[in-house]
Amino acid sequence: MIQYPSELLILIAYLKKLPGVGRKTAERFAFYLLDWSDEDLKKFSHQLGCLKEKITPCDTCGCLKDADSCSFCTSKIRDPSTLCLVSSPRDVYAIEETHAFKGHYHVIGGLLSPLEGRSIEQLTLDKLEKRLSEHTIEEAIIAFDSTLEGDATALFLKQKLEKLGVKTTRLAFGLPMGSSLDFVDYGTLEKAFTGRHTF
Ligand SMILES: [Zn+2]
Repeated sequence: MIQYPSELLILIAYLKKLPGVGRKTAERFAFYLLDWSDEDLKKFSHQLGCLKEKITPCDTCGCLKDADSCSFCTSKIRDPSTLCLVSSPRDVYAIEETHAFKGHYHVIGGLLSPLEGRSIEQLTLDKLEKRLSEHTIEEAIIAFDSTLEGDATALFLKQKLEKLGVKTTRLAFGLPMGSSLDFVDYGTLEKAFTGRHTF
């Protein structure tokens, strides 16, 4: 058993929380950080400390906004009658890279997952309903991961949206089950957008 100083063990434990980082990698990162200058470490920790204060989601669409304004909601060139539903703000950037979509976004805040204890109450449905009542939305494009959770959430939203008279389409993935949006290459994602279909 390696006897690391307790403060180092705490750092390693935090680093291990990152996706794809196991014990060995976390240890390597921790020692790497020990070699950083005091100044860089202070800047890094300051950035981490105020991350959630500085980077906040837009109250309307849930995308991450810059300072006080949301570049998506305030855009004059985006089409507000088409709404793309995504599960997390991360997916917005993957879709933006394809240049295949010029409408507005709505981040629903996760996918339904009984295993992870995420239920309907945790999705931003009230905000979605508010948008639908205030604006004419001609098409809602569901852009979720191709997973069981993605399918279940898409089906639930489709039923809800169609009751409100909104045409609902889903990306034509053509991808194996388990594909997540941010791992799909841009060409495939662009094709999935142009080939979207009702379901
Ligand atoms: Zn917004």
